Amino acid sequence: MVQSRFLQEFAQTLTAWQEQHGRHDLPWQNTRDAYRIWLSEIMLQQTQVSTVIPYYQRFLERFPTITDLAAAGLDEVLQYWSGLGYYSRARNLHKCAQAIVSEYRGFFPTKQELLETLPGIGRSTAAAIAVFSAGGKAAIMDGNVVRVLSRVFALTDSIADPAGKKRLWHFAESLLPDTRIESYTQGLMDLGATVCTRSNPRCHLCPFEDTCKARQENRIAELPVKKTKKPLPLRETIMLIVMAGNCILLEKRPDKGIWGGLYSLPECPIITGEPVGQTAGQYAKAFGTVDSCEPLMPFTHTFTHFRLNIMPCTVILGNPSGTLAGNRIWRTKEEALSLGLPTPVRKLIESAGNQDCLS
Ligand code: SF4
Repeated sequence: MVQSRFLQEFAQTLTAWQEQHGRHDLPWQNTRDAYRIWLSEIMLQQTQVSTVIPYYQRFLERFPTITDLAAAGLDEVLQYWSGLGYYSRARNLHKCAQAIVSEYRGFFPTKQELLETLPGIGRSTAAAIAVFSAGGKAAIMDGNVVRVLSRVFALTDSIADPAGKKRLWHFAESLLPDTRIESYTQGLMDLGATVCTRSNPRCHLCPFEDTCKARQENRIAELPVKKTKKPLPLRETIMLIVMAGNCILLEKRPDKGIWGGLYSLPECPIITGEPVGQTAGQYAKAFGTVDSCEPLMPFTHTFTHFRLNIMPCTVILGNPSGTLAGNRIWRTKEEALSLGLPTPVRKLIESAGNQDCLS
């Protein structure tokens, strides 16, 4: 049973700790600009601060305002997102910018209820924007927050269980202070990211070192309650690096689904019992006369819901056919690398530089 005094002191202790020991110089701090705060919140989902910083800066240089972002083409937005992964975030970012320009005349709303109605903005992101742009009293909930609260208060609810998730939200809301909400919210983020880490938490630096229930009860490793992980299903594909002279054939993915709207390489299904090179060579005849077809080392790329075993194959065309489907284009390696590409595709194109056909 959590004592009410402990509950009341939690926010006070965390706020004081953040103001003295937390992070204060991240590029998206020290501003009330909801556009910048929103951009950082979206980029930081499932992505580490150190990875986000250069993307955030490049993105803002190109799209300094929400109007600039709304006016840009999706291809360009994806190009600036290329490498960050979870591309639905970029597509929603673009949709959201257009909605704010058309519905709010370019003025970013700062109320949690309004924010939550916009594309790609969930409850926690809406709360973070409301807090940091307008000092709104709202609770955030991400992996870091769940970890800190579960450990400090020895909570056994799982975020993966709808009833447990509801209780966690309710609990997080009950802790909110009436003042200095920005420091409190940032404190939850900072403590989870820098002190109360998943493994080897640095309890000697924690403001709850003496009061943390998980520490007192020696249950740090078991909290937060983990969801039982099912093994991810495995899919397989043959990915073709089709080259003619110094050009590579690219294929634009449909807007919806994995890598939606990005440029990728043509793919063909595996035929059981048939060598990959043979399948790829047959398939590539649709693009012209095949001079050579060489399978490369397969590798696996992990998505949230499945793993993809990619079997790459370099195909050299002697004579490319004149007609191409509308979603396919020929580009030099340099031009291809300037487009929005999924990370494994970018790596394959980068490594395609040593092919004989380019000499
Ligand atoms: S005392 Fe340790 S386990 Fe408890 S909240 Fe602090 S860092 Fe996390």
